[in-house]
Amino acid sequence: MSQPTDLNLNQAVQALSNGETSSRELTQAYLERIDFLEPELNAFVTLDHDGVLAQADKADQVRAASKNGGKEQHTAPLLGVPVAIKDVLAVKGLRATAGSKILESFVPPYDATAVERLRQTGAIIIGKTNTDEFAMGSSTENSAYGVTHNPWNMRRVPGGSSGGSAAAVAARMVPVALGTDTGGSVRQPASFCGVTGLKTTYGRVSRYGLIAYGSSLDTVGVLGQNVADVALIYNLINGHDERDATSAQMPQDDTNLNGSGRLQDVRVGIPDEYFRSGLQAEVETAVRQAIQVLESLGAEIHTIQMPHTQYAVPVYYLIAPAEASANLARFDGLRYGPRLEGDNLRDTYTGTRGQLFGRETKRRIMLGTYALSAGYQDAYYGKAQKVRTLIQSDFARAFEKVDLIAAPVAPTTAFEIGAHRGDPLSMYLEDIYTLPANLAGVPGIAFPVGFDSQGLPIGMQLIGPHFQEQMLMSVAHSYQTTTGWHTMKPDLSMITPC
Ligand code: GLN
Repeated sequence: MSQPTDLNLNQAVQALSNGETSSRELTQAYLERIDFLEPELNAFVTLDHDGVLAQADKADQVRAASKNGGKEQHTAPLLGVPVAIKDVLAVKGLRATAGSKILESFVPPYDATAVERLRQTGAIIIGKTNTDEFAMGSSTENSAYGVTHNPWNMRRVPGGSSGGSAAAVAARMVPVALGTDTGGSVRQPASFCGVTGLKTTYGRVSRYGLIAYGSSLDTVGVLGQNVADVALIYNLINGHDERDATSAQMPQDDTNLNGSGRLQDVRVGIPDEYFRSGLQAEVETAVRQAIQVLESLGAEIHTIQMPHTQYAVPVYYLIAPAEASANLARFDGLRYGPRLEGDNLRDTYTGTRGQLFGRETKRRIMLGTYALSAGYQDAYYGKAQKVRTLIQSDFARAFEKVDLIAAPVAPTTAFEIGAHRGDPLSMYLEDIYTLPANLAGVPGIAFPVGFDSQGLPIGMQLIGPHFQEQMLMSVAHSYQTTTGWHTMKPDLSMITPC
């Protein structure tokens, strides 16, 4: 029997608006499913059981009133729809831990802009999803609140750092979730969990209310079951915000997927450098088959070169920790979250930070502080910035020849929990294909294109020029109208009662 939680976002919106279900029924169904699955998956850090049902009832009342002649219905496209938010974004009244002990008790008094915009359109925030501490990681193993398990295989990671959001969407614990992508954290978990994830152009969605990691790289993105669902949320959260100094002065983008279908005149670039050694053979095969599907839809396929791709890992792992070391200085035990009182101010700082930051966070702070320190800044941070410019010019040159780039998201499918324990460099190398888009600030979309022999999802990403989210989503949507990978869901019947 089909469950309300089987609906995708667009179907849920439809079912609510034509009265097939109520917000209470839908929300209750999600909460019940979460209660069954959460002990196994650990996708959430905080859930708002009581608050959510009260909001659902309120939404149902608003809808009933609007049917009797009110006008709310037209202004609230997500009225009564539950959504989840990565725990690095502020949601008023719900604690924001960023996956860290140092923010265990921090309850923001305001909403992030992206959250505020979802609320204004009627969405209900069901909870905060698990993340690597301060979004630093590729597996959620760096969360102080335990690892999230991949719904396709409980021994595997869901990817990271938005692993909780990806696992929650894949397991149908929520129809859609917000994530953030600083170096791949929306696309890679989307790929590992078999869902669709959009990384927006830097500046397209406000960073106001996002706990900063790498400020020149951080972007807010969306994870959903398919492109149409992701587009619905993207349309609501994007657009200029004066509270974020790097927010782009662009009119609000409004993606319409109705026209997508044939891909005549779309030139797709395949970068040689994204298909080198280290790429799992099954990933390469699935991605190349997906490229053939694009070709069969009318796209022109071109081989291109992105010669500075190999420097993305060292460049990113200097710039991101350098920015993080500055951003994380504010967590001093005085302003936010818990404090470990020392005999003097210095002991309070070092005690709080030493005890409450996790290992990877401390490693990044030390790396970043070193890269910025007097005498080394030019050699490390300065040099990394110069090479970042070369990576940006790879994209600029590519987009003179092609409209978009198609490539794998990650070199492998979801790896085993613990596979990279004790070897941070091998973990960093997992990010090789996602980091360049962040260094260039361009948008990307990841979506499922097959499975490996272990039954784990394989993802492909499309990367486009700045502010071309619409074009990327329209091409990815065309792919999804002729293929069924995005409709596959993990078998969780061992855990769920039905
Ligand atoms: N895995 C990368 C890192 O550890 C990217 C994380 C992200 O995008 N937030 O920094």
